[in-house]
Amino acid sequence: MSSSYRSGTPGNEAASAPVRPRPTPTLRTKGFWDAARRGELAIQRCSACQRFFHPPAPICMRCHGEDLGFERVSGEGTIHSFSIMRGSPPPGFESATPYAVLAVELDEQPGLVVMGNLVGVPPEFAQVGRRVRVVFQTLDDSFVLPMFEFIADESGKV
Ligand SMILES: [Zn+2]
Repeated sequence: MSSSYRSGTPGNEAASAPVRPRPTPTLRTKGFWDAARRGELAIQRCSACQRFFHPPAPICMRCHGEDLGFERVSGEGTIHSFSIMRGSPPPGFESATPYAVLAVELDEQPGLVVMGNLVGVPPEFAQVGRRVRVVFQTLDDSFVLPMFEFIADESGKV
């Protein structure tokens, strides 16, 4: 199961396994993880057609452009779908269950979805259509994971 939490390519695993499984940054995803370490959400974008992509791709999937960079985005979006993880968690996640994994559609582009855990409220509060914003959780000195928290609605209620 832990393999589903890694975004790295096969054969590119870190030599020393961390306690909690985490994505393995690759050359392609480095811009995303470097930004997270700065507390920013950055998404790959094609300079030719301005299309955002996530997860990062080798070439633009729309125009086949090869000039792809990472651009900071607002980090705000809407819950597109979610799943609540309970029961037998993957190794390393025992203390974290239950938790909700969100697929968040970012405001920048329809269909641009980023995954992240819901923090700040119980997992059962997750609801499709709910507004959220990115927050960053530091797992250790070098690794920062983007997660999401609720944005208060017009009445100020979270
Ligand atoms: Zn393009």
